[in-house]
Amino acid sequence: MLLTAEETARAARFFTDGITCLATRPVRLMEVCGTHTVAIFRAGIRQLLPAAVELVSGPGCPVCVTPNEYLDTAIAYSRRPGTIITTFGDMLRVPGSESSLMAEKACGADIRIVYSALDSLAIARDNPGQAVIFLAVGFETTAPTAAATILQADKQGLTNFFVLSAHKLVPPALKAILATPATKVDGFLLPGHTAAISGLEPYRFVAGQFGVPAVVTGFEALDILQGIYMLLQQLQQGQAELQNQYRRVVKTEGNPAARDILDQVYQPAGTGWRGFGEIAGSGLELTAAFRRFDAQAALPLTVAGSREPAGCRCGEVLRGLITPPACPCFGRHCTPEQPVGACMVSVEGACAAWYKYGQGR
Ligand code: SF4
Repeated sequence: MLLTAEETARAARFFTDGITCLATRPVRLMEVCGTHTVAIFRAGIRQLLPAAVELVSGPGCPVCVTPNEYLDTAIAYSRRPGTIITTFGDMLRVPGSESSLMAEKACGADIRIVYSALDSLAIARDNPGQAVIFLAVGFETTAPTAAATILQADKQGLTNFFVLSAHKLVPPALKAILATPATKVDGFLLPGHTAAISGLEPYRFVAGQFGVPAVVTGFEALDILQGIYMLLQQLQQGQAELQNQYRRVVKTEGNPAARDILDQVYQPAGTGWRGFGEIAGSGLELTAAFRRFDAQAALPLTVAGSREPAGCRCGEVLRGLITPPACPCFGRHCTPEQPVGACMVSVEGACAAWYKYGQGR
């Protein structure tokens, strides 16, 4: 249901007044998703909140959490003769250990930006003598499309299409955060789009096992204000539940059809996250039936010596330990034009959002 401007303003006032009343002690809330981080800045929500309510970003920007080891591997593949790399555009500028995909492209590597994983199949068909490797980066939201692409490649009998999978699942990263005593989080705004695929079940442990309130939240300013309001209501009443603010999109059972496609092609596996290291069961690898599409299985190569950029504190930003201005590089050596780390590159990166939309608080 669409609200009029007057109704929207009234609802926003209701939630901000409510938040102010409920903020009787300092609380630290994590917006897990990069889309939330950007929406919060764009709508000026930080400025609407009382000082007692602190918002901290989490590990929900897929480009940011992809470690340099993966980037270095992608760069090594881009240097492999007879290889075309296909990727979403925001991976291009992320600095690897010694180079970036952008720098490799400038030096002549065949790296093509695609807007959907499916675009890679046409490139593979048009270049039968080349290996086409799609950089499969993203969470539960994008993984089903990559899985559908692999099913299509199988159907079309393509033998020169491969994926380099860095797909990640959000719940295991939340568990890693909750298991780290240094990260103090009183409540979570959970990403609505990943829950739309997975459903609510994978997030129940946040409240059930760790006793921390969590609200699956949409991406409009009103959604976010309501999500914060719901978290503060729980905290004031001493409750810890998983609630769904985004019921117009997120169903309890999620999207079984998308999960079915995913389960045909992928299975959970351990994978590395920037700032966290390897998290068990947090990645997706191809099942045996589709492993021939796995770039690393079909075209093995070895990359050694990956390291994070000197001085970059992306890992701490992604774990909610610090906010970007606490990084000594922020706005000095590290800007969106000259990024040092991934969090300053991606449009969903916390450092880029803090830099672009002001450093109010
Ligand atoms: Fe890394 Fe730059 Fe963010 Fe610092 S400001 S954490 S160097 S991306």
